[in-house]
Amino acid sequence: MSQTSQVSVHFEAPVATTDPLIAEALKSEKARQQSQIELIASENIVSRAVLDALGHEMTNKTLEGYPGARFHGGGRFVDVVEQAAIDRAKELFGCAYANVQPHSGSQANLAVFFTLLKPGDRVLSLDLAAGGHLSHGLGANLSGRWFEAHHYGVDRETGQINYDKLEAQALELRPKVLIAGGSAYPREIDFERMAAIAKKVDAFFHVDMAHFAGLVAGGVHPSPIPHADLVTCTTTKTLRGPRGGIILSKSSEFNRKLQAAVFPGVQGSIHTQVIAAKAVCLGEALQPAFKQYARQIKNNAQTLAETLKGKGIDLVSGGTDTHIVLLDLSSQKKTGQFIEGVLEKANITANKNPIPFDAKRPADWVGLRLGVSAATTRGLKEPEFTKLGEVISSLILSAETDQEASVIEQTKQVTAELCNSFPIYS
Ligand SMILES: *Cc1c(COP(=O)(O)O)cnc(C)c1O
Repeated sequence: MSQTSQVSVHFEAPVATTDPLIAEALKSEKARQQSQIELIASENIVSRAVLDALGHEMTNKTLEGYPGARFHGGGRFVDVVEQAAIDRAKELFGCAYANVQPHSGSQANLAVFFTLLKPGDRVLSLDLAAGGHLSHGLGANLSGRWFEAHHYGVDRETGQINYDKLEAQALELRPKVLIAGGSAYPREIDFERMAAIAKKVDAFFHVDMAHFAGLVAGGVHPSPIPHADLVTCTTTKTLRGPRGGIILSKSSEFNRKLQAAVFPGVQGSIHTQVIAAKAVCLGEALQPAFKQYARQIKNNAQTLAETLKGKGIDLVSGGTDTHIVLLDLSSQKKTGQFIEGVLEKANITANKNPIPFDAKRPADWVGLRLGVSAATTRGLKEPEFTKLGEVISSLILSAETDQEASVIEQTKQVTAELCNSFPIYS
């Protein structure tokens, strides 16, 4: 009898009773999300349905391989889920191939390197300070340690990629892979032009649309699919799903290599419950409401950008075509780190970021990255983003003056009202 009751505790007791330390942190994190306006560009707020899938017993299932060709038994329901995720990704992005197994965007990129390159091969990608990503060849990342990575930047005047310069650089370097995409590039990328450059130098063209995949899905951003050999993305950011990656391709040319690159190339068993959550998020992105969401993201980002500019805040590239607004605080002689701290005191979360030609040390960066996708999910529209732009510029302009404390206090009222008017997970 005592054995039976022990078993039932294991299966029934909630974390609140079994592990107070973790339960308390979970509870506090939820309250933090409810009471702060989230402007970190890589974040979003997933649906209850995505959370249901993530917290599901499907996590118990171990499987390697692909639907219909697994290395363990008992996989028939996970097969349903993974096949649905694959089919939905293909439909959503209009492509011939989808691999939904990568545990993260970085893993998806690593699998692409594994597919297209041999160690020592040359890649050409966007510079980190110009908005690139560490998995595109940063020296401290495996991609930069095992491959010869070179970077293109942006023009100082425009803050945007100069495709003529990029072409000259590619002709000189003759990389094996040309990579487009980044984490802090607020503008649309000319995929057609970059594909032509890649073709001219006989390179593969890889687009990492981690940040703007949701905008592509929602039809408010050009799709890289027709132009790129391979496309990677996360399901996390504008796509509004669980933490994870996807690899896509317009053709079937790399199917076998990609399957083998993800498993057993860079991963073992799949995260079964995450794949279920990916399927749910891809299903959501296929609904008409998601198009509306994507349009609202663009409108909100424009509103935020224009409001900040109107208050005298400089923006890298002068504006945005996406969900990202990248502030250049050099005119105010403030660092991104400092302003990040000021915003957090007023219950707005954002992150310091390098801007093009910025200082080396993160503590000296003068960039602050804002993104509107999470707050847009919450329901904020143009009037609220006008208000946010006003309070953020006030926080920046009053920082380190005797107004600072009172502006923070006033802004806390504004954020509290916004959070109450647009609740999450009630
Ligand atoms: C976020 C991001 C990734 C992947 O990030 P993970 O944290 O590994 O999921 C990859 N590429 C770009 C451009 C990104 O912005």
